[in-house]
Amino acid sequence: MTKVAVKNCTTYDQKQLREVIDNCIGVLGDWGRFIKQGQKVLLKVNLIGPKLPESAAVTHCDFVRVIVQILKGYGCEVWIGDSAGGAIAGIAPTAQAFEVSGLARVAREEGVEIKNFDREGVIEVAAPHTPQGKMYLAKPMFDADVVINLPKLKTHSAGMYTGAVKNLFGCIPGLKKAEYHRHAPDPKDLGLVIADIHQATQVQLHIMDGIMAMQGEGPTAGTPYPAHKILASTDPLALDVVASAMIGMNLSNIPILQAAAESGLGESQLENIELLGDYSSPPLLRGYKLPKRFGTTKKRNYQAVVKVIDFLKARPVVNIGKCKNCNACVDSCPMQAIDKDSKRIDYATCIECMCCHEFCMFKAIDLRKDNKLAGALMKVAGLFSSYK
Ligand code: SF4
Ligand code: SF4
Repeated sequence: MTKVAVKNCTTYDQKQLREVIDNCIGVLGDWGRFIKQGQKVLLKVNLIGPKLPESAAVTHCDFVRVIVQILKGYGCEVWIGDSAGGAIAGIAPTAQAFEVSGLARVAREEGVEIKNFDREGVIEVAAPHTPQGKMYLAKPMFDADVVINLPKLKTHSAGMYTGAVKNLFGCIPGLKKAEYHRHAPDPKDLGLVIADIHQATQVQLHIMDGIMAMQGEGPTAGTPYPAHKILASTDPLALDVVASAMIGMNLSNIPILQAAAESGLGESQLENIELLGDYSSPPLLRGYKLPKRFGTTKKRNYQAVVKVIDFLKARPVVNIGKCKNCNACVDSCPMQAIDKDSKRIDYATCIECMCCHEFCMFKAIDLRKDNKLAGALMKVAGLFSSYK
């Protein structure tokens, strides 16, 4: 039977966290089942954007810190990685998000490495549910000996819920995420793309930060809810089935999990999941607010979603006036899409990973809106000064 550990944890206090996390892993078979001394371990966090830890939008930095300390204690080399959201709005503020979330500070203090997925290169993998049958995922997911997924318990105003399954969408670097949203605006179709990512990466351990969860209009505009839970499993779908039952949902409410179940990603039936830890059935989180759209039969206008994505679409362009010809962008481009002499980008080859934009220390790579009106509006709103 698939096992999911659910334990109470009331604060981000380091001592309590360490005890509870150790306990969760203990009931699944001990840390030695998942990691070995000397291994490179990547912690795939939820870094949806530049959000403070107390916003409940990102995996809490103190939660990550304790896992870093545990892994260091086992003699592992630890990395913390993700690519921030912002796909729909055509922005990719990953470096800023690492700072604001407190994760960069934790990495500095603990002496471990941040892996900004927008500047680490990519690996091509098979992805049967994408139009091209392949996709490019952040290289550290494959360079690490072990990946541990650290999702946040949150509602999602479009997909209803987001947790362990959805968290791997951040393995797609930069603005390319927008293209998958565009091709699969229906959450169920997007779920099939995410199932492809799980197939390619085969992540073996998932530990959810459900201490301060997000309720209402998540994944960024909701409010914190003190759920006081940590969940862990080797099966991301089983973990999400239990977590979603805790907030009063089930598989039929969550298209991404339905897609994951159809793809055979894991166990989707609650009766086939053994709960370990403090509970024998999912503890109901009373008064937890669901998204406003929950339970409505009205279908989203997905054509409108596609139009918004097209309206906001941006792509990298070298600003020749600012360019110092250092060729850092040329050398860092994983697709060799930038011509060394002219600095022209071949958009048929470019995968919009943002590696060049991240690496240019002269701020000579703009993110130019295809739609001039969108660019002007973003500029007037002062949202992101480097976005044209
Ligand atoms: S990294 Fe920046 S400055 Fe260097 S060649 Fe590329 S665009 Fe020019
Ligand atoms: S030009 Fe290269 S580095 Fe820049 S976004 Fe495209 S693929 Fe990534």
